[in-house]
Amino acid sequence: MPESKDRTYWLDKAQTLPIEGRAFIDGAYVDAQNRATFTSFSPIDGAPLASVAQCASADVDLAVAAARRSFEAGVWSDLSARERKALLLNWAQLLEAHTQELALLESLDSGKPIADTLGGDLPGTIYCLRWFAELIDKVHGEVPATDPQFFGTVTQQPMGVVAAVVPWNYPLLMAAWKFAPALAAGNSVVLKPSEKTPLSALRIAALALQAGIPAGVFNVLSGDGHTGRALSLHADVDCIAFTGSGKVGREIAKNAAASNLKRVWLELGGKSANIVMADCADIPQAARSAAAAIFANMGQVCSAGSRLLVQRSVADTLLSELMHATQAYQPGHPLDPATVTGAIIDGGQLQQINQYLDIGRQEATLLRGGRTLQLAGTGAYLEPTIFLAKDASARIANEEIFGPVLVVIVFDTLDEAIAIANQTEYGLAAAIWSSDINTVHTATRRLKAGTVWVNCYDELVDMNFPFGGFKESGNGRDNSVHALSKYTELKSTILRCR
Ligand code: NAD
Repeated sequence: MPESKDRTYWLDKAQTLPIEGRAFIDGAYVDAQNRATFTSFSPIDGAPLASVAQCASADVDLAVAAARRSFEAGVWSDLSARERKALLLNWAQLLEAHTQELALLESLDSGKPIADTLGGDLPGTIYCLRWFAELIDKVHGEVPATDPQFFGTVTQQPMGVVAAVVPWNYPLLMAAWKFAPALAAGNSVVLKPSEKTPLSALRIAALALQAGIPAGVFNVLSGDGHTGRALSLHADVDCIAFTGSGKVGREIAKNAAASNLKRVWLELGGKSANIVMADCADIPQAARSAAAAIFANMGQVCSAGSRLLVQRSVADTLLSELMHATQAYQPGHPLDPATVTGAIIDGGQLQQINQYLDIGRQEATLLRGGRTLQLAGTGAYLEPTIFLAKDASARIANEEIFGPVLVVIVFDTLDEAIAIANQTEYGLAAAIWSSDINTVHTATRRLKAGTVWVNCYDELVDMNFPFGGFKESGNGRDNSVHALSKYTELKSTILRCR
């Protein structure tokens, strides 16, 4: 089993791992038209991994044209749902057969622990692809009541060309949350992974073709924000599905409005509140869960429980348990299977986190952590860090840091906790720990968040549940049957009969 391999095994395997850095357009790997490239570096040790195509507008035009051709030719969009399902399941099978290779590629490119990519990212990606493949031949239209001389249907049709622009924190998984429903619905897709983690997306494109998904249906463009911008402005893209920062999300919405009013779906940031009431039945469990909620994936998680709100009478007990639980998140070498905390994605992100640590030292009390560690080469690793806020208006208690930094806020009443939880611009997730059903009911109704956990955090990874945010955490939802509506147009068909 892969889990039993040791660090030497993964380091050796990394030496001979084939890495593809060219874009994948119309069923083939190609250089950028102007031959421009950039280097992908590993956050693990700063070593160069590959020279990667920097796609420009000309490449975007080619990929969108290939997607459009395949869509209009009906090689995918006109297949029966059962046929599309079979091919998507083939692809999932191939991803599974290549789990070790893909997990290693993902760890090298993102700095995530190999245990996480093997045990979380890859299985999650495959599960998502299978789930939408399995869903698509079970979707029904509607036959509304009409006057007797009419017969009408309401059906969902694919939109055409869907562009997916995704971030680096879960490179394959965030991509799958877009391409799985979009492809299952019959669209052709142009995926743009983050320039920080392009490699796994480029690799799975060849596996899609090998699975029998026709050329032009799934294209991958490597490149930075300029590539994403060209997609957002393209007049022949019908829909753009984005996961990333609010700043870029706003720009994409503006570009969509300035071009062809393409549909825009945004999954953005968060500053989620994890509320522990004094009547929480298991404080040690709440503390372990609070640590995992912020320190998993180095805190680079949109739904991270980055604010821990604790009722005053249990604050000391919870904090002492939390300090203990946090010891488990000391960084280690990402290719060591025992490591739970890997590297920060790059120097830019580290700098952003360090700026917030400086702000935090001024406006709050540092309880632990805060130091950058050098573990391998020039890779950047951060100690799990906890601040105690002096008041809830502190910047570190309201702005997304996107790193392993937890802010603890002490409150007195449930009303106060809910007001603090709801005071940020975000509304992605929240949690409440209490053994009083009335408290739980009140909180789950009033918390402005797309996901609310009760007596747990970040649990039940199940595609049946939609994921997305209220307020400036975005619009629309990934996952679940609801995600299909992002990639389909509703059509009313009305027949007059005699
Ligand atoms: P980012 O916004 O910097 O980049 C995301 C993607 O957009 C990348 O592929 C990037 O190349 C591209 N891009 C950059 N400029 C662009 C432009 N002008 N036009 C079009 N595309 C452009 O975000 P990031 O740093 O990669 O990811 C971190 C952010 O993502 C955090 O805010 C985090 O909360 C959010 N996130 C949200 C979710 C969610 O589901 N809500 C999930 C993961 C990450």
